[in-house]
Amino acid sequence: MNNARSHELFARASQLLPGGVNSPVRAFKSVGGEPFFAARAQGAYLYDVDGNRYVDYVGSWGPMIAGHAHPQVLAAVERTMRDGLSFGVPNALEVAMAEEIVKIVPGCEMVRMVNSGTEATLSAIRVARGATGRSRIVKFEGCYHGHGDSFLVKAGSGVMTLGLPNSPGVPSALADLTLTLPYNDFDAATKLFDEVGDEIAGLIIEPIVGNANCILPREGYLQHLRALCSKHGALLIFDEVMTGFRVALGGAQALYGIEPDLSTFGKIIGGGMPVGAYGGRRELMSQVAPSGPIYQAGTLSGNPVAMAAGLATLALIQAPGFHADLDRRTHVLCDGLEAAAREAGVAFHTTRAPGMFGLYFREGPVETFEDAKASDTARFNRFFHGMLERGVYLAPSAFEAGFVSSAHGEAEIAYTLEAARAAFAAL
Ligand SMILES: *Cc1c(COP(=O)(O)O)cnc(C)c1O
Repeated sequence: MNNARSHELFARASQLLPGGVNSPVRAFKSVGGEPFFAARAQGAYLYDVDGNRYVDYVGSWGPMIAGHAHPQVLAAVERTMRDGLSFGVPNALEVAMAEEIVKIVPGCEMVRMVNSGTEATLSAIRVARGATGRSRIVKFEGCYHGHGDSFLVKAGSGVMTLGLPNSPGVPSALADLTLTLPYNDFDAATKLFDEVGDEIAGLIIEPIVGNANCILPREGYLQHLRALCSKHGALLIFDEVMTGFRVALGGAQALYGIEPDLSTFGKIIGGGMPVGAYGGRRELMSQVAPSGPIYQAGTLSGNPVAMAAGLATLALIQAPGFHADLDRRTHVLCDGLEAAAREAGVAFHTTRAPGMFGLYFREGPVETFEDAKASDTARFNRFFHGMLERGVYLAPSAFEAGFVSSAHGEAEIAYTLEAARAAFAAL
């Protein structure tokens, strides 16, 4: 595989961008080697600057649920951009987007558009703090909510862990306000709320953890958290930046039948453009400026081109059977990968939600962050490179979920499984 142009670009980038990239995971640090540079993408495929083609299971980290460069999304962007790129006054597409989100997502009566998932989660905890008058927030080990200070808190051991910043630059006075819990542990959550429940503004969770591979909630776990938050007057915040519009049209809250107080979105609702959103009950969202005192703003928020890309994507995923079909494809892929690993005698397990999956180099089940961490990451890294050489691009980290899009058809999945049989055999 020729990588000369990517190699040359990465050398130049490394002089100018920290680590040669604008977002850390892209640098391939955890899998080793150098990233490839994209030239273009189409459907399920990415093409690099050296002319190599990859079946893409990252999908720009989630937005490309309808495949890359979908003609209907591109047409909407082209149409919209001819009228101007940004206005700084309200536009009709923002209203259409808000109407779509409120129609689709059970827990959203009002929304505010922002420009990234990070902005959405930062704003949501500000609302939680502003609305409750409390300061502490609870997050879960292994959950990622963007790079806001309050979220960059190390997963601790024990039931209740006072946060330690795991990034220099996060003041401990702020990190101390973030409490962490082990995901899927019922008793730990009960105990924490019994001790400090009346100080907790909000509990934020990835209802399906896609940033620690792909960990599904145990039966009744999200209901348990809903009940604890209600009992103690804390707000339940579902971070659906990844799961929203993917695991079901209405996201994980629709899949599991739970109404959070606040929800955060990103990725899919931008259709590939930089977008985020947060929303929730009217009584909470109406406290946001200018209808209320909780300040939050954005020069480019509700950008017309981004709204057009997002609306076109939301239209595509509302085709009848879209999510059932995505789920079926995900199972075909994961069943096939497990069969290929068995043939090669490799200890391997997959977890699945509609349109997303986790790969583990260990036997199942995987239900906790500890279970996920017990995967043989050295083996994953060899498998990752084995697949890459054979034209399949998996997430370049053993702790990131993979994504299936509606453009991953039988041919792409068959190609992937053939590559996997060879890559497993070569481990
Ligand atoms: C990607 C992601 C974010 C951050 O979104 P950005 O747009 O990268 O800022 C937040 N939460 C979850 C669950 C995510 O997957």
